[in-house]
Amino acid sequence: MNIHEYQGKELLRKYGVLVPNGRVAFSVDEAVEAAKELGTEVVVVKAQIHAGGRGKAGGVKVAKNLDEARAYAGEILGKTLVTHQTGPEGKEVKRLLIEEGCDIKKEYYIGLVLDSATSSVVLMASEEGGTEIEEVAENSPEKIFKEVIDPAVGLQGYQARRIAFNINIPRELVGQAVKFMMGLYQVFVDKDCSIAEINPLVVTGDGKIMALDAKLNFDANALYRHKDIIEYRDLDEEDAKEIEASKYDLSYISLDGNIGCMVNGAGLAMSTMDIIKHYGGDPANFLDVGGSATAEKVTEAFKIILSDQNVKGIFVNIFGGIMKCDIIAEGVVEATKQVGITIPLVVRLEGTNVDLGKKILNDSGLNITSAESMADGAQKIVSLVG
Ligand code: ADP
Ligand code: MG
Repeated sequence: MNIHEYQGKELLRKYGVLVPNGRVAFSVDEAVEAAKELGTEVVVVKAQIHAGGRGKAGGVKVAKNLDEARAYAGEILGKTLVTHQTGPEGKEVKRLLIEEGCDIKKEYYIGLVLDSATSSVVLMASEEGGTEIEEVAENSPEKIFKEVIDPAVGLQGYQARRIAFNINIPRELVGQAVKFMMGLYQVFVDKDCSIAEINPLVVTGDGKIMALDAKLNFDANALYRHKDIIEYRDLDEEDAKEIEASKYDLSYISLDGNIGCMVNGAGLAMSTMDIIKHYGGDPANFLDVGGSATAEKVTEAFKIILSDQNVKGIFVNIFGGIMKCDIIAEGVVEATKQVGITIPLVVRLEGTNVDLGKKILNDSGLNITSAESMADGAQKIVSLVG
C-alpha cells in the first residue's frame, strides 16, 4: 500500500528523521492559510498523488510570496498530472503539501528496499540525487552504493558511515547522516515497509540533512498489525475496480490489455495470462475468484471485468476442483443477465460438475464460444478480439 508524501514525512518526523515543516491542504484557501502559518518567505506547493516524477510534470512549484502560493495552489489542485509513473491517463490532484522552502546545497538519493536476491533489506545510496535512480543505474551504476543489512542485528553504524563517505556527504555532517539512515531503517522495520525512498535527501545551506521527498510503501499482508498506517489509506488513489474486488474477497489486479480473464487459482490465472500473451493477445486483468466462490461472487467478478472500458472480450478458464463448474456457469449467466454482454465470451470448463456447467451455459441462450482446452480457448478469444 502506498501513502502520500506528507503522511510519509509525518511518520519520518516521529522517528527523528528531519523533514521541512509543512501542512496538507485540500483547497486553495487552506493552502494560503497553511503558507501563512508556516511563516517562511518561500513555500513550496507540492501535488500529493501516489506517483513520483511530479517535479518534471509541473506538480512542484516554488512560491516566493502568498500571492504566488495562491496562484500555484489554484493551478495544481484539480489538475490531472501525467508523470512517468502515473500512466498516460494521469492522476487528478486532490491534496497539496504546502512546505517551507528549503535552501538546497546538494541533493542525494537514499533508499531501503527488500532485495529478493539476498533475502535482506538493502540500503542504497547515491550522490546523484533528484534524478530517477533508474537513470543513475542505467548511466552510471558505479555511483550507486549498497549495504546489505543483516536482519539479526539491523543496520550497523559502520555501514551507515560507509554509505555516507561513499556518497561524499560533507565530513562534518556524517553523524547527522548516520542518524538519518538509522531513523529511516527503524521506520522500515517497525512498519513493515517494502520500499522507503528518499529522493532527494538534501544538505541545506545551514548544514542540515533533510528528507525533501518521501516515498513509503507498505507490505499489504502486514497491514493488520498497523492500524496507524491503514488510516493513511487514500481510496481515491487506488483503482476503483480493485477496491470493488476487495469487498468480495476477489484477487483482482487491473492491467493494460483488452482480454478480461476470469480464472480460479492464482497459478492458473498466471498461466492463463501467459497463454493469452503467447497467442498474441493482452490480458486486461489478473483475476482469481478463489476456491470457495459463490454464484454471487462470480457475478460480481464478471461485473468488475465488464466495467473496464478496455475489455473487448472475456476468457473464462475454470478448473473445477473445490470450485464447481456449475457455480461458475450460474454466475456467468446471472451477471450477463444483470449487465448485458455484447462482447465475445469464450468459456473453458473442466473438472467437477463440468457437464452440468456446460448445460447451464447452453440452455442460457447466451452467445458463448466454448473451448476444449486452455490453448484452444486462448486462441479463440485472441482471434475474436482481433
Ligand atoms: P518528485 O520526485 O515527485 O518530482 P520531489 O518532492 O522530489 O518530487 O520534488 C522535486 C524537486 O523539487 C526536488 O528534487 C527539489 O529540488 C524540489 N523541492 C521539493 N521540495 C522542496 C522544498 N521543500 N524546498 C525546496 N525545493 C524543493
Ligand atoms: Mg522525488
